[in-house]
Amino acid sequence: MEKETLSNCCCGNSGESSCEVGKNNLCPVCEKQGTLVKNITVKHMVLDELTEQIGDNDYFLCMSKECDITYYNPESNIKFNKQQVKVPIWFKKGANPKYACYCSKVTEEQVINAVIKDGAENMKDVLKLTGAMKNAQCQKNNPLGKCCHQIIQDAIDKGLSMK
Ligand SMILES: [Zn+2]
Repeated sequence: MEKETLSNCCCGNSGESSCEVGKNNLCPVCEKQGTLVKNITVKHMVLDELTEQIGDNDYFLCMSKECDITYYNPESNIKFNKQQVKVPIWFKKGANPKYACYCSKVTEEQVINAVIKDGAENMKDVLKLTGAMKNAQCQKNNPLGKCCHQIIQDAIDKGLSMK
């Protein structure tokens, strides 16, 4: 039964468990799986002179730290690198500044400082001290098009662990 499933695999790579993931989601350079990002977000992130190339498709964002690729679309074979987006992608190597909240331009360092130097203990304290997540427009400003809440929480945890 199991063998039959494998031989019918769409990607023709029988025996590989990556079939479930869908080969088309993989970054064309590092070949790791990316995260789906909506077209509207990609249009806001990529440099203005390149927005015409984007088209109407959704893209994937390469999540690997070392890889230079940011957004890519495996079907149209269009890809953008770190230099072709307007803001540093926080989890990419060398991101500077490293934003925790893109909407209010609050950096990871500011969040950590709020925890270590100003005694913030939770999200509420940090938002008050740093002004993060004010006028949140994450779909346009955050590279994943998602709320920065989780990135800020990670920075708080990082700060708390450094205390
Ligand atoms: Zn990649």
